[in-house]
Order: sequence, then structure tokens, then C-alpha cells
Amino acid sequence: MMKSFQAIVISKSDDKQRAELSTLSEEDLMDGDVTVAIEYSTLNYKDGLAISGAAPIVRRFPLIPGIDFSGSVIESTNGRFTKGDKVILNGFGVGEVHHGGFSQIGRVKGDWLVALPGGMSTRHAMGVGTAGYTAMLSVLGLEDHGLRPADGDILVTGAAGGVGSVAIMLLAKRGYRVVAVTGRVSETEYLRNVGASEVLDRQEFSDPARPLGKERWAGAVDVAGGNTLANVLSQMKYGGMVAACGLADSMKLPTSVAPFILRGVTLKGIDSVMADLKTRTRAWDRLAQDLDLETLDSICTEVSLQDVLGLGESIIAGKIRGRTIVNPVA
Ligand code: NDP
Repeated sequence: MMKSFQAIVISKSDDKQRAELSTLSEEDLMDGDVTVAIEYSTLNYKDGLAISGAAPIVRRFPLIPGIDFSGSVIESTNGRFTKGDKVILNGFGVGEVHHGGFSQIGRVKGDWLVALPGGMSTRHAMGVGTAGYTAMLSVLGLEDHGLRPADGDILVTGAAGGVGSVAIMLLAKRGYRVVAVTGRVSETEYLRNVGASEVLDRQEFSDPARPLGKERWAGAVDVAGGNTLANVLSQMKYGGMVAACGLADSMKLPTSVAPFILRGVTLKGIDSVMADLKTRTRAWDRLAQDLDLETLDSICTEVSLQDVLGLGESIIAGKIRGRTIVNPVA
């Protein structure tokens, strides 16, 4: 018989959403064939939208938010996992329509889980989290396009945020010269420490874009969308590629076809939520291989379940630096 456990629960009444720390029991868990003692979760941009209610991320109530977690299997009827296995979960609607990671216990479909890669702790896995895994998918996208360090500079937007920080680390480790775009030029030292060779002010990318600008970037990872992405596209070198994964600036994309038809630029969409197991395993294995764990530790802050309740607004406002690990037993 499972003891009661703590979790953040989002409920809705009179069209108003409310998030609070609650005590739950086994009957509150949703269906799944693997039960996990959650060791860590993280705060992602989407979790900020969910906790604050700024966007309709949570589509079932009451719901435990948290789009990712890592931990130890405590019960399993799934052939891939047995008690004691260390696992990672991200995506598949967890924290949106299925109870998520801001909890001490999670129960999910084993098909959604990835085995923790060798050399990585459950804490490191959530130091990476959905944001870092999305950064890895973006870098793999650029590599699959054929991009190599000799092709030229790679631009990373939203650089001091979660996806941006990890993308810089991964690209610098592979020998790329990385140029970081940030709204927080006061974070220049931080960005250089994670691997940026140059730091640009976000303002340079905020005006409406011209169809084509000077060719500057061989590749780019964009977390912003909006005018930021439009400006990045207009500055791509001939044949370059942008991996677009976010909307921190805007959901809109006010651009023209000029970069595509005159410079052969490729715009690749990156989705972390429904990626298949092969893609996930490839990304997590590369993360375990490429990430400098000391640098990863240096960009992480650890908070409790109670703390995370107050951080939703901060991450949407772009005030969180690097990655925020949530320790549910702290
Ligand atoms: P963070 O909040 O950690 O980082 C976002 C960063 O974007 C901020 O830190 C800030 O960086 C920058 N930013 C904020 N506002 C603006 C603006 N108006 N214009 C340009 N840049 C801005 O979030 P994450 O890194 O976790 O997520 C980044 C984006 O990626 C989000 O939109 C998120 O929804 C998306 N995402 C998508 C996934 C997918 O599957 N496609 C998965 C994970 C995330 P700075 O201060 O350095 O400018």
C-alpha cells in the first residue's frame, strides 16, 4: 500500500485556475503500467504557462503539472522496465492531460519512458529536462542538414534561457563558433562561460525584418519566433538552416519567401512532445556523451515543489537564467 504523497495540483472552478501543493494518495494517480518515485522534475517554459494559467496548457482538471521527470521505477507491468530501473519522462501530454512531474510519485505508460543513459544521474537528466532535450533535437537537426563547424557561425536566440543555454553548450562542445542573442547583455559572462564566442543584443533582431539582409549565419537555433525569427531567416547564409523550436517572442512569423527561394534556406520545425522512441534515445544518448556535466551543474538552480509555484510568471517573463531543477522531496 502506497503512502500518501505531495504534488502540485491545478484545479479549475468558475473558469478560474488555481495551483497549490496538495497531499494525494494512490487512487489519485492516473492509468499507466509503470509507477515511478520521482527524484527530480524541472521548470520549463510550458510549465510556467500551465502554473500561471497564461495559456491553456492544462486541458484536464484537476491535474498535476510538470512536463518532465526522472526517477526510479517502484512498480511495473511493462516488459521494458522493472523495479529499481532509472527512467526519464518528457512529453506525451504529461503535465497537460496526464498527471506530471511536480509530484513525488508518477504513473505513466512505459512506452513513454526512456531508460536513463549511462554516465548521467537523474538530477543531471532534469538539469537537461525538456528544454535541454529540445536543444539537442535542434542541434541534431542542424547536423542532419549537413552543417559542420567549418561552415560558419551558429546563432542561438533566447540564449540565457533553458533551451538557449544548453544549445550553446552542445554546439560549442562540437567545435562550432556560437553567437548568442540575449535581451540580458548583463549575462554576457554567463553566456561566455557556457560556450558563446560572441554576444549580441536582442534589440538588433526585434524590428520588422527586411526580406534579405547580410548573410551571417550558417545555422541557427531559434526559441523566439516572431520578428526575431524573421530577422534570423533574412540573415542566413546560402543553404543554411534554422531549427525553430519556440515562441518566446511570438507565435507569429512575419517573414517573406525570399530567404527560401533566393538563398535555399531551410526552416526546420522541432517538436519534443511526440518525438518517437528512436529519436528520443538518440537525443538522450548524445546528451550523455556530449554534455559537460560540470558546466551543466553551473547553469542549474534547485527548488522545491512549494518554490516552483511562485516561478511560473518569472519564466514566462524571461527572468529565469539557465535551468531550474525541481526536487519534490526537498
Ligand atoms: P526560458 O524562459 O528558459 O527561455 C526563453 C528565453 O527567450 C528567455 O530566457 C529570453 O532569453 C528569451 N526571450 C524572452 N522573451 C523574448 C522576446 N520577447 N523576444 C526574444 N527572446 C525572448 O524557456 P525555455 O528555454 O525552456 O523555452 C524556450 C522556448 O522554447 C519557449 O517558447 C518554449 O515554449 C519552447 N519550447 C519548445 C519545445 C518544443 O517541443 N518545440 C520544447 C521546449 C521548449 P534572453 O534573456 O537570453 O533573451
